[in-house]
Amino acid sequence: MYRVFYLEKLKKALTKLPSIGEKSAERITFFLLSNKEVATEIAEAIKDATEHVKFCNKCHAFSEEELCEICRDPSREKVLCVVEKPEDVILLERVLGKKWYYHITGGVLSPINNKTPETLYIHDIPKRVKEEGFKEVVLALPPTVEGDTTGYYIRNLLKEHNLNVKITRISRGIPRGSDLSFQDGQTLKEALEERKELT
Ligand SMILES: [Zn+2]
Repeated sequence: MYRVFYLEKLKKALTKLPSIGEKSAERITFFLLSNKEVATEIAEAIKDATEHVKFCNKCHAFSEEELCEICRDPSREKVLCVVEKPEDVILLERVLGKKWYYHITGGVLSPINNKTPETLYIHDIPKRVKEEGFKEVVLALPPTVEGDTTGYYIRNLLKEHNLNVKITRISRGIPRGSDLSFQDGQTLKEALEERKELT
């Protein structure tokens, strides 16, 4: 049987990417092998990104430094927006038109998937509110049961610490059962603007 080892190896590696099946992986492999400049550019970009992009020590967003650009910016509004994933920050910064601070939980509570509070970056939120003097915490977690549960957990945690901070969550206008990245920019912006207070 005719097999080209490195071609197969590349194809197999590409199938590990999200939404890339066998067929797409094969098509990309052929493309890269006939466009070696593009292939080299992509290989170098992947190497650089994986080497240099880490996570901010404070908010857990993508960063090239110990503290990300947002955490180092003293001029932002004292609002802490809690999101699930580092990519949510990029999305919100793009659509929001406001300069807030962020905190990434790294997931949502889900006992079936072993996602307990201890596995998430949740317990440093009260400390941040206290030390950085936030006047509002906006919960912008996924519009799912797990997202809501996580939001209530955070709300209770803040109440337990007797922190005098307004707690809000994004409005119900956005469709349930998906994550933030599936919302269009305008819907997301409105959901954030029409946020409701959690008492
Ligand atoms: Zn940060």
